[in-house]
Amino acid sequence: MKIAKKYLITGGAGFIGSHLCDKMLEDGNEVYCIDNLITGSKKNISHHFTNPRFHFIDHDVIKPLNDQLIRQIKGLDYVFHLASPASPPQYLKLSIETLLVNSIGTYNLLELIKESRAIFILASTSEVYGNPIVHPQKENYFGNVNPVGRRACYDEGKRFSESLTMEFYRKYHLKTRIVRIFNTFGPRMQVTDGRVISNFITQALSNKDLTVYGSGSQTRSFCYITDMVEGLIKVSRGMNLDGEVINLGNRDEKSINQIAGLIIKLSRSNSEVVKVSARIEDDPDRRQPDITKAVKLTGWQPKVTLEKGLIKTIEYFRSL
Ligand code: NAD
Ligand code: UDP
Repeated sequence: MKIAKKYLITGGAGFIGSHLCDKMLEDGNEVYCIDNLITGSKKNISHHFTNPRFHFIDHDVIKPLNDQLIRQIKGLDYVFHLASPASPPQYLKLSIETLLVNSIGTYNLLELIKESRAIFILASTSEVYGNPIVHPQKENYFGNVNPVGRRACYDEGKRFSESLTMEFYRKYHLKTRIVRIFNTFGPRMQVTDGRVISNFITQALSNKDLTVYGSGSQTRSFCYITDMVEGLIKVSRGMNLDGEVINLGNRDEKSINQIAGLIIKLSRSNSEVVKVSARIEDDPDRRQPDITKAVKLTGWQPKVTLEKGLIKTIEYFRSL
């Protein structure tokens, strides 16, 4: 019989976090979801509001947790720290908030787990590799990041968050694990978050032009949400992973032009592709995860193909 555990998921009302809440509750666990709804939505978690094992706390993790809250979540087994804007247009708009949640926010959570000694999973990102010179990206690549560019609030925020997490691991022997998440997509992505998949599907379903930024030859590798959630869980439960940094993503690399074509085909849209000069400074030219380490240490492998994932995501957007 499985023993129920106590989870804290920051950013639990967001895209990835809400799917993680679903899974943890489905498995009989108790879930505390902390979110200030800055980019998330109650709609993503409202189906759990009558579940006595689910607790939503509207709180900004940049602010320290008050004593009542600390008492409430005493005895945590796992903390997933996902709170942070993640879509480029959102983190550009919320640049200071992004830097603070990835610095002070992470600090507050690391301090919190000193007592419970919960397993702590930091949601980092492939953006720590910046516009990579090494391809595909392995965990031991230090990256190519512009520290004062427009994406730096996110990239450097996450790099600081990683560094802080490693210092708490070294100094206090906390059970920390860092996952570098590569582009993830699926139902509950916000329609207006400005990311490529949500933009293209929304445009395709309304037969509007798909806006390819730049030449469209830049690449990304997209991982379906159910695979990502499984990967996060495997990293949290794996043995001897404290202090490790692990890439999670799908290796299937595609150009943005290919993604546009695929979405038009799968949604049977009459849309055309237009090229617009809207690439954000330092937009990575290529991105593909090397997931050898994840496979070796956890046995995890993404299973859902890009096409299958897109079909499900298009269905979801159509249903809205
Ligand atoms: P999201 O914006 O849907 O979710 C983030 C959640 O964090 C939102 O619900 C938001 O309201 C909450 N939040 C932000 N600041 C907060 C604060 N100060 N206090 C409390 N809550 C706060 O984004 P997502 O795509 O679900 O991303 C989740 C995590 O995964 C992020 O840390 C992101 O950096 C990381 N990540 C995501 C992707 C991806 O492709 N989706 C890729 C790499 C990394
Ligand atoms: N992009 C695009 N059209 C859009 C939105 C994004 O061509 O409507 C491009 C963007 O320039 C980038 C890639 O798609 O090269 C992925 O962008 P996204 O914002 O989804 O995520 P990123 O990987 O850059 O964080």
